[in-house]
Amino acid sequence: MPNLLVNGERLKDTIEAFADFGRTDQNGVTRLSLSEEDVKVRGYFRACCEQLGMTVQMDDLGTMVATLAGEEPGPPVVIGSHLDTVKKGGRFDGVLGVIAGLEIVRTLVEQGIKPRLPVTVMNFTNEEGARFEPSMMASGVLAGKFDKAAMLNKQDAAGITFGEALASSGYAGEAAHRITEAAAYLELHIEQGPVLEKEQLSIGLVDCVVGMVCYEIEVTGESDHAGTTPMDMRKDALFAATDLITELRVRLGALDSGLVYTMGRMNVYPSIHTVIPNRVVFTVEARHKDMEVVREVEAILQSLPAGLEGCGVQRSKLWGRDTVWFDPGVCALVEQAAHTLGYSSKIMASGAGHDAQFVAGFLPSAMVFVPSVNGKSHCEEELTSYEDCEKGVNVLLTAVLALLSSEVGSPLSST
Ligand SMILES: [Zn+2]
Repeated sequence: MPNLLVNGERLKDTIEAFADFGRTDQNGVTRLSLSEEDVKVRGYFRACCEQLGMTVQMDDLGTMVATLAGEEPGPPVVIGSHLDTVKKGGRFDGVLGVIAGLEIVRTLVEQGIKPRLPVTVMNFTNEEGARFEPSMMASGVLAGKFDKAAMLNKQDAAGITFGEALASSGYAGEAAHRITEAAAYLELHIEQGPVLEKEQLSIGLVDCVVGMVCYEIEVTGESDHAGTTPMDMRKDALFAATDLITELRVRLGALDSGLVYTMGRMNVYPSIHTVIPNRVVFTVEARHKDMEVVREVEAILQSLPAGLEGCGVQRSKLWGRDTVWFDPGVCALVEQAAHTLGYSSKIMASGAGHDAQFVAGFLPSAMVFVPSVNGKSHCEEELTSYEDCEKGVNVLLTAVLALLSSEVGSPLSST
């Protein structure tokens, strides 16, 4: 029997229909969480689901849980991601994973397939954290990583709390509707990096979300007159900081070729061109799937000298997270699906955070990536070809069908 495939034309039309909610003049999307555009796209998504006979419920964080009933009561096969975007974001980040679920249910309904288990499509509230920090807010509460009351009090730039925005959106639901069990959770997402395109592969089989650590380094010197102070009598915090950064680049660069590290924020004080800098603060953030390597990064940062070139050096850890490994059983299922369909693929790590990393804590989960043109995302240029989107959704459909046909008590288990 040939593989059941999704409808590529319909998928393309659906991607563009969703992009109409908040589309920018440069063909990107601005759809901040619980904004007017987000509320509208939620309504559209809800109508699409109800048209298919799905039941749409909201949990207490406004996450949408749309379910097509199965012959058995559960646990459901869950497909999800997020409909919110950053400001001037793209047409694919997040929304593709929700549309994937919708297209899969449309295909099942069209084929007259009554699934053995319920099939649930989810839209997690406020994944981006672009309006209310932190990102992955709703999945974080679900996973017990964030405190719900604290999240409800988070304010946007205008002083509106998340709780207020949720109440006025009409999408505040009940804790009883939180997802608590699943045969598997599958999330299709754009890669947001250049690897798949560079290697001319169609599918990324994501086995983990990499662990990371972020430190802040503060270098303290002395401010003096830039014209009257001889070079050998200065305590220049910026020169000391740049020497430290050069040393860090050499030492971190020697650790492992898979390590990525960034010094993305730096503040120089007093930042006056006639004054020798007396204080520099910068961040060092590093990510790797092997926590041993992350710990080596920490050892290097901890071993920085307490003083350099007459300046003091202090380090403090801002935060870190361990690598989240996806469920081996669900990963194997997705890998098998890509093989069955004859799509080129590779196993890879996610360097970015996703709802799936929190969901993986309580549901057997896996992610699938599709290529990002020029690796771009979180910008209006964000692009994934419709063909690649279709392949990604087909991989999920094949995996879903395998889950629906496998016996109850299949080897899939939460890790
Ligand atoms: Zn996303």
